[in-house]
Amino acid sequence: MTVQQVSHELRSAAAHVESIDSRCAQPDVFTIDVEDWFHILEVDGASDSAAFDAHPSQVEANFESLLDILAAYNVRATCFALGSVAERFPRLLRDAAKLGHDIASHGYGHQVVHSMTRTQFREDIRKAKAVIEDAMGRRVNGYRAPGFSITSQTPWAFDEIIEAGYVFDSSVFPARHGHGGIPGACRSAHVIRSTAGRLVEFPISIADTPFGPQCFFGGGYLRFFPLWFVRTMARRVRADGRGVVWYIHPREINPHHPRLQLPLRRRFKAYVNLRGTAGKIATILQGGNFATFSELAATFPP
Ligand SMILES: [Zn+2]
Repeated sequence: MTVQQVSHELRSAAAHVESIDSRCAQPDVFTIDVEDWFHILEVDGASDSAAFDAHPSQVEANFESLLDILAAYNVRATCFALGSVAERFPRLLRDAAKLGHDIASHGYGHQVVHSMTRTQFREDIRKAKAVIEDAMGRRVNGYRAPGFSITSQTPWAFDEIIEAGYVFDSSVFPARHGHGGIPGACRSAHVIRSTAGRLVEFPISIADTPFGPQCFFGGGYLRFFPLWFVRTMARRVRADGRGVVWYIHPREINPHHPRLQLPLRRRFKAYVNLRGTAGKIATILQGGNFATFSELAATFPP
């Protein structure tokens, strides 16, 4: 796919999807990127497999705590697991699947897409799929790029995701983003078609503000802003006929996890207000209407 084709696909899908959305309220989707506390993007040595030997892993305990919160509100999540985590902790994903959670892929080595060649990306997403399927004993249908790092400069990524056998994707951040982003891309769930096949795309939720479009539903923004404000922004997304895609990392509910040495701005964004995250999530889950991406992907015509 060319840059122009990707832009056209992502923008032109909007009109069709909005008409579907207007007929019924779309559910929210709660997503978890299953990675460890040291898997901070674009930090030397933090994302390769050797990082597990250099740092004490906490992903098991933190992920299980997150699943406990979800169980308390009877919500099932879509969990994008790193292949390197699945390789070390296969039981963790099997147990989550037994609880009804949707297990998908976050790639193997947690590298941003635009830092890889097309061949490296192909190998990464195929290795992750194989490792996670091995751990699960079942097919894995979904993919999310680390840091939502598919951009207009990596239009081949969608073809590679389709050819690797994934059915849905949640990598598009339709605004500016530190690790990627495709400003102006379609904000609603839609189908991307190419000569390689088809892919259901679930973009990250964006709300308009006087300062431009922004995501308040995961990462530093979810932790920094007060819950009343985040919920106001969520209502704004739903008023547009879209469900909210929430995202969280296991480390974010453990305020005592170790810290990496980061530049000041990134340190603030990575670690601000960890203490309040678990409570915020509980309130968001309470009384919400949630589905998994696999369930929603199945509602799109083939
Ligand atoms: Zn990640």
